[in-house]
Amino acid sequence: MRSITAMREAATPEAGASDEPFGLYVHWPFCLAKCPYCDFNSHVRHGGVDQARFLEAYLTEMRWFAEHSTKRPISSVFFGGGTPSLMEPSTVEAILGEAGRLWGYGDDVEITLEANPTSVEAERFSGYAKAGVNRLSIGIQALNDEDLRRLGRQHTAKEALAALDIARAHFPRISFDLIYGREGQSVAAWEAELSEALTYAADHLSLYQLTIEPDTPFAARYAAGKLKLPPGEEAEELYRLTQALCEEAGLPAYEVSNHAKPGYESRHNLVYWRAHDYAGIGPGAHSRLAIDGTRQALSALKLPEGWCEAVDAKGNGLETAEPLSDEERAEEYLLMGLRLSEGIELDRLAAMDGRQLHGSRLAPLIAEGLLSLDETRVTATPKGRMLLDRLIFEIAEARS
Ligand code: SF4
Repeated sequence: MRSITAMREAATPEAGASDEPFGLYVHWPFCLAKCPYCDFNSHVRHGGVDQARFLEAYLTEMRWFAEHSTKRPISSVFFGGGTPSLMEPSTVEAILGEAGRLWGYGDDVEITLEANPTSVEAERFSGYAKAGVNRLSIGIQALNDEDLRRLGRQHTAKEALAALDIARAHFPRISFDLIYGREGQSVAAWEAELSEALTYAADHLSLYQLTIEPDTPFAARYAAGKLKLPPGEEAEELYRLTQALCEEAGLPAYEVSNHAKPGYESRHNLVYWRAHDYAGIGPGAHSRLAIDGTRQALSALKLPEGWCEAVDAKGNGLETAEPLSDEERAEEYLLMGLRLSEGIELDRLAAMDGRQLHGSRLAPLIAEGLLSLDETRVTATPKGRMLLDRLIFEIAEARS
């Protein structure tokens, strides 16, 4: 692959292009098996996947996005899924090469790939690094085999730790995910597991409390009373413990479920949470950007083969394209930005839809210790981040 520096020079941004971050998301929709808690757009193809055919469709859809939107350098790329570590490194390299040709890369571009830590996938890590990936996000999920089995994962705890070691040798930045609040997991057990995880933690951890998503095998088991999750109070205790242990270890929460050493936050996810523009390519991918001059919310067909056929026929696999009003953009910023510990920038929010926040109306929430407000920002406190729906509603009501 040509170096990222060469690609930076290849594409000249259009005059007047925004210097705000711009992200490219690539969705690889295939997994080895379906985890019983997962409602992502992921599909199992026992007969294999024709990567060459999918690669052609990714390249075509990227070209369509580039042709219909403002040219500006990419600040982050994220290969998500599904399981992108099932992609051949050459597929990743070809996508990154074309993205560089079409948009160019900004200084210090972050290129993340989500990986599962089976030994077979770990063998591809060096290939991804050579292709230009500089950040790996590993789906470890649990540190004991019994829980990994219950979660339907394809790796063992030993494999996960070995994959982490291999990743360290190839990537300057690493994150891994764990799921907590699992069936039968006590607060003490999670404390021990997270403490162990923090000894391996690199610079970033994503810690998700297990939730029951509709139409999943876990939802059916939960409805039948065969799967029990921690009750409300215990779930809150688990959340508080998580915040405290990470803070103590120097990885404070910068978002509800994401923790990082200062400076190691996921720049790509910040694009979403700060309501910047991004193009999403691949089956089921979402985008927020101006197409032919109109800012839109776009989403692609979910079924991989159907998406491929649509790309063949019309250059993109889009299923919906809705213009986004200024009010809707501000609502999205409120919804996403309040998840961040940095909160919402008031001037930026006001610039989106012309509405001002009447801070005095938020006094009861501030008195309850749920919100903080100064001249520049409104921020949910750690306690408030457990009640985000209420806060978003109240802030929206306090604007006119
Ligand atoms: S590997 Fe990830 S995307 Fe695939 S089924 Fe499991 S949780 Fe879902």
